[in-house]
Amino acid sequence: MVMDNSTRLQYLEAMGIDVWVSRKESAPELTEAVDIEVADPIVTQSGTTEQKWKVLQDQVAACQKCSLSEIRKQTVFGAGDVNADWMLIGEAPGQNEELEGKPFLGQAGFLLTEMLRAIGLQRETVYIANVLKCSPPKNRDPKVDELKSCYDYLQQQISLVNPKIILAVGRVAAQTLLGTKQALSDLRGVPHQINGIPVVVVYHPAYLLRSLLEKRKAWQDLQLAMKIYQEEEK
Ligand code: URA
Repeated sequence: MVMDNSTRLQYLEAMGIDVWVSRKESAPELTEAVDIEVADPIVTQSGTTEQKWKVLQDQVAACQKCSLSEIRKQTVFGAGDVNADWMLIGEAPGQNEELEGKPFLGQAGFLLTEMLRAIGLQRETVYIANVLKCSPPKNRDPKVDELKSCYDYLQQQISLVNPKIILAVGRVAAQTLLGTKQALSDLRGVPHQINGIPVVVVYHPAYLLRSLLEKRKAWQDLQLAMKIYQEEEK
């Protein structure tokens, strides 16, 4: 879907770019913890990279590791450039994403696209995945057993893409990837690493659409990510 300039400007303004925010940011803290152990990524299949992607995609499509498999219409594997320098990892597909089989559609998806554009990236040039490949009913938070069941697929995706930087989009992705219960407000604004790959935590666009006061911080986090990426490139 193509976005006209005025809509794009609205999104950028919504992110706080060139918008002065003087009040103390006081959006509610999201504190529910994800207790998951993060292991080293292991890609077990042999064959070419292309074959490994195919095997992994087939495994995800047929997955029955948790009860979401009983109610899903289809899995949402991931999308974008499999050789990307930038990998974005969100929480879980929503109902629209499940119907279309693609991550980050709708308003949150548009805002994510605009966030990327704001730091000079085209969405097609990054790889986007979620921690969960199935949509939890009624957009509820993923359960720990679901995150655990699905995590190996994400680890394999990370290994195959081998990105230069990862953006953890939102609390659930950040806590799961970093294996921590810390609040998103503590995790953002500082660089992290998993298996030698820099990770920057950013607010979820769905949250940004609801929380006007966090937009400035989101822009700062994106700039931090670009700075880290550029330093990696040197
Ligand atoms: N859609 C996704 O694909 N992931 C999210 O985290 C939210 C919406």
